Amino acid sequence: MQEGKLLTFVKELAILLESKPSEEMIFTKGKKLLENLITVDDWLAEDFSKPHPQYYQQYLLYADPLDRFSVVSFVWGPGQKTPLHNHTVWGMIGQLRGKEKGTPYYPQADGSYQAGEPCVCPPGHVDTVSPSTHDIHVVENNHLDQTSISIHVYGANIGKVQRHVYDPVSGLEKGFVSE
Ligand code: FE
Repeated sequence: MQEGKLLTFVKELAILLESKPSEEMIFTKGKKLLENLITVDDWLAEDFSKPHPQYYQQYLLYADPLDRFSVVSFVWGPGQKTPLHNHTVWGMIGQLRGKEKGTPYYPQADGSYQAGEPCVCPPGHVDTVSPSTHDIHVVENNHLDQTSISIHVYGANIGKVQRHVYDPVSGLEKGFVSE
């Protein structure tokens, strides 16, 4: 593993966040930093790229000591999928290997959630989530026959954030915290 790339990303993002940037700035400058990190798939350690047979796997790669951000690798076995969920903080999803499909959902007047336009993300692509515009989504491996891996960056220590999963039809919500 080349420790260098992840460390460079973490340092550059910490410096950017130190300037208290707007979310728009995070989604331009920070996004560029994440694009640089994922442009060549040669740095993620084997230990953090193994899928689990039953569920999508998450490995914490870095947690900022001041809880300003965290970096997690998501490893998707064939066909694996999240429930409908929110984040409550900004998030960037950088595709490292394979393809993921991210589908935003929007609350409707009757309490249900309606799917928007999905993004099928190829390697090198960065998708975003934001509590102010598009915080609720479903993410799944777009492949039924291979592993996909993405690098998720959140504007908090995501392991400490209280958030929700939703039933898209009834709108019923349930609290959860990532492990
Ligand atoms: Fe998500």
